[in-house]
Parts: sequence; structure tokens; C-alpha cells
Amino acid sequence: MVLASMDSPAIRRLSAQIVNRIAAGEVIERPAAAVKELVENALDAGARRIEVIIAGGGIERIEVIDDGNGIAHGDLALAVENHATSKLTDEALVRINTLGFRGEALPSIGAAARLTLISRPPGQDAAYKITVAGGAVGPVVPCAGAAGTRAIVEDLFYATPARRKFLRTPRAEGEAAMRAVWRLALSAPQTGFRLVTDERVMFDMPPQDEAPRVAALFGRDTARTMLSLDAERDGVRLTGLAGPASLSRATAGLQSFVVNGRPVLDPLLKLSLRLAYRDVIPQGRHPVAALRLSLPDDALDVNVHPAKTELRFADANGVRSLVMGAIGQLLVRPISLATAPMAPPSGFKSSGIMMRDQAARGFAEAELGLLTPPAARPVVRSDPAETNYPLGAAVAQILETYVLAVAADGALVIIDQHAAHERLTEERLRGEFEAGAVLTQALLLPVVVDLPPYEAAGLRAHAPALRRLGMEIEAFGPGAVLVRGLPAALKNPDAAALLHDLAAEFADTGTAISLEARLDAALARLACHRSIRAGRRLTVEEMNALLRAMEQTPRAATCSHGRPTFLKLSKAELEKMFGRRG
Ligand code: ADP
Ligand code: MG
Repeated sequence: MVLASMDSPAIRRLSAQIVNRIAAGEVIERPAAAVKELVENALDAGARRIEVIIAGGGIERIEVIDDGNGIAHGDLALAVENHATSKLTDEALVRINTLGFRGEALPSIGAAARLTLISRPPGQDAAYKITVAGGAVGPVVPCAGAAGTRAIVEDLFYATPARRKFLRTPRAEGEAAMRAVWRLALSAPQTGFRLVTDERVMFDMPPQDEAPRVAALFGRDTARTMLSLDAERDGVRLTGLAGPASLSRATAGLQSFVVNGRPVLDPLLKLSLRLAYRDVIPQGRHPVAALRLSLPDDALDVNVHPAKTELRFADANGVRSLVMGAIGQLLVRPISLATAPMAPPSGFKSSGIMMRDQAARGFAEAELGLLTPPAARPVVRSDPAETNYPLGAAVAQILETYVLAVAADGALVIIDQHAAHERLTEERLRGEFEAGAVLTQALLLPVVVDLPPYEAAGLRAHAPALRRLGMEIEAFGPGAVLVRGLPAALKNPDAAALLHDLAAEFADTGTAISLEARLDAALARLACHRSIRAGRRLTVEEMNALLRAMEQTPRAATCSHGRPTFLKLSKAELEKMFGRRG
């Protein structure tokens, strides 16, 4: 080897200021991160109300005002010093009940920007102020100020121009900052939140319960349709609101996860949610949910990432099963229950929002004298016994595509015969799959697939799971796998591509998502081909049989593409539409 120069450069210690600026970049990489850290400090200080004011995307100015317990004037200088915190009282990083604990945020912000901290603990006569600009700490001076703390950040990254170059437009940075406040506001409904961006009030919410907070931040119409869940498993509790299958969005923007009070962007939770909805919402669409997980502190490590948004669960599989199980239960609610939220299945209560709506409707119906409606007999003769079912009795078929039915409560039900039957067929095929009857197509010539040794080992370890999914593999030396059979339903997939995907997934998630997803897609395709088409005329008996089967089938409210299988218009809704009732 030839060295360019024989003089080795001298090693010298970096100044504390430079160290802080380097470290600052890890904690505060953009305005949203500064906003998040300041709001977390306000929440940790027990604030009842927090106001966030953002200007110029937060690059120009961020201000966070709280009415929390403040910083004593003797502690102000310490608060902006690196690794000084009031929150870790012992050396164990295990039990962390506060949002902050590293003592890095204020010094990082002070290193990268101009930070002014004004604080007055409720018992202290006057407020005091300290300023840190580019790491230079000013004196502590008395000033005017309300009880609580006001943190002002100006000219973010003026002291670290290299970092400033990586910022996006003020508009994009401002949106990210708003998202950060949105997530924190969802995590702490008991705290009032006001957000002002470029002089516009984005929201102003009092301290409130979780359901109205979700309604305020997800939109009232969206929240109204969401179902509440409450499930527990091995000391881990999952609560919150999740959308029905019919509710989906083009992005994952309406998803919030809170773990032990901390808003997180955790990949495991996101994936679990996606998997829970995989069968009921169309590909490329995203479910809507506000979920809250509570677990013992020692089952969780929050000290994985400087921004503390990723976690390590001691029992990741347990957490995933809990999320998928609880939401799965919510989604397979049979139609009779899904449309009758007053009688939810045990263990899952309806959301407060729905309960209130239901109560309001009951009240309106009582007023209208409709609480004991006269049995609504269809005009067209049909078996009267059928009207007592949730989807009612079929009375007609229109356009050889839709079945019209009338239920006992007078509701008019319109069923898309193809969409409905497709779901029934798919669920039957899935039942066969789950009973272990996945057909394997043996390969005439087994295929050898070369893989990195660790991936090959992962696949071999999951061979029994793969066999249940119709895939036969065997070890073939350290870095290869021999494929002897593939699921028949897949019709000659590319074995190598499938194995590469599966190996990566086993490494990431411990499950065979791509195989399951492909089998799902294959099932859906099969179901589609084996289902009655639009355009086929049905007898009344066939129509009623279809309705009764739908009532018995999980997830029957949507087809495999996520479209609704039926629409229901209640008697009250019909009356309202015709202007018979106000
Ligand atoms: P951390 O939150 O990890 O402790 P920070 O740098 O964010 O570190 O804050 C340092 C300390 O300053 C906190 O431990 C806390 O004592 C004090 N502090 C910061 N912001 C506030 C606030 N809004 N209200 C009360 N005390 C605060
Ligand atoms: Mg903090």
C-alpha cells in the first residue's frame, strides 16, 4: 500500500461546541423534530394547554407555550446543557415514563439555532430568560412571563448551513411540523392543543376524551364510522378506534400509533395494521386507525433511536398477533352485528361516537313513534319468515345485477349479487386453505435457488410454515434451497423470485407475507371466476339463499376488492330523503 503522505495528521479533541453541532444534527434533523421535542417537554411538564406557533415552515420561527410546571431560574442554565435532564432519576434506562429523557433536545436546538427559553414555575414570582445562539449560552435574566414555559426557536440551522441545505421547501417542512403536532395531540387528548401556522389557526382543542379528539383530528365524518376496540393479551392492552373495511385512504396519513403514551412511527405496528386489513381493502389503499398500546415498561425499549419514534418490543410476535387479532375480530363481525352496533360481540364495544349517534337515532325514532315499527311486509310476495333476518327478504332483482330486499325494520337493502357471491366463494376457498387443504403442485424438475446463506437458513427454518402454504422446499448446501413443489393456485410462479421475496420477509417480519398475499390474490381471482356474474337472473329462493349466506360469512360487507357488497337505507333515511320527516 502506498500512503499519499508520510505525515500522519495530528489527532485533536473537538471543541464542545463542534461536538454539540454534530450531535444536534442527529436529534434535530428538521423543524418538525424541534417542534416534537419542545411539545414533548411541555407534555412532560404536565401542561394542560399547549400552543404551537410556526412561521416560515418552522425554519424561520417555532414557538411552544405551555402552562406546565416550569423550570426554576436556578435550573435554566442546566436545562440547555448537554445530557442534563430532570427526568432520569436512576441509571437504569428501562423504566421510562416521560417522553424525553436524554437531555439532548434543548442543547441541540441551541447549537443549531437561536433558542430563547422563558420560564416561570407556578410558585416563582417572576419569569427568567436564557438565550442560546449557535451554542453560545447567554446569561439568565429576569423578564415578564406567565406561569409555565415559552420556548422560541429562530433561524433554525443558521449555525449549521450544511444541514440547512438539506431542508425541503418551507411548505413541506411546515407540513411535517404540523404532522408532528397532530400525532402528539392524538397521543394526549387530556391536554388542550392550539396550532397556529403562518397566522392561521389550524386547530384549537380543549382537554377532552379520546373519541372527540380523534374526531377533531381525523374529521368528524370519518371518525363517526370508526369502531372502537379494546383487547388484551399477556398484559399488553390495545385500545382505540379503527375504520371498517369500507373506509380506506390513498395514503397511510390517517394512522396513529401511541405506545405507552408516546406517539410512534413503528414499522412493526404499521405492518400489523396493514396485514389486519389485507383481505378487506383494495391493494394500494390504506386503513384508518388511531391505536393505543399499553404494556409493562420492561416489555419495551424506547432507547433505540435518538428521536425515540421506533421501539423494540420484547415480544414482537405477541404485539403483532394482538393487533391483527383484535382488528380481525372487528372486521369479521357478521352483518347482523356490524349493522346493529347496540349489540356488539363480547369483548369489543362500539365507539362512544357510534353509541351517541345510535342514542340520537333512538331518540328521533321514539319521537317519530317508530321504536316499535309495524312489520314491513314486502309488497311482492315473499316468505314472511325471511323478513326477520338482518338483510331481510328478497323482493326483486333489477338489471339482473342487483337484488332488492326489505328488512323487518323497514330498511331497503340493495345487494350487488356478483360482489356478494365473490366474497362468499373466497371465504369458502380460504376456509379450505386454512384447514390445510392447500394443494401443492409437485415440480417435474425441482428448482435450485441460490441465496445468501443467512437467507437460505431463514427459509429452511420456516419450511413447515411454507408447507402449510403449499410450498415444498429442502436444504441444498449452505447457500441454496431446493424447491420441490409450489402452491397449485399460483399457476407456475417464478420460484426464484418468490423465494427471494420470502427470504427477505422472513428476515424482516418472521412471516411469509408475499406468499400469503399471492395466495390471497389467487384466491380472489378464483373466487371471481367461480362466482355468479352480474347479468344472471336469480330466483327468489336463490336470492334469499344468497342473503342468508352473507349473514353467516365473515367480512361479507365488502367484496375481495374492498367494494361494498350491499347498501342499506333505513326507513328513517327514506323518510328523510322524501321529506316526510325533518
Ligand atoms: P429531556 O427532555 O430529555 O430531559 P431536554 O433537553 O428536552 O431534555 O430538556 C432538558 C430539561 O429541561 C428537562 O429535563 C426539563 O427539566 C427542562 N425542561 C425543558 N422544557 C421544559 C418545559 N417546557 N417545562 C418544564 N421543564 C422543561
Ligand atoms: Mg425533551
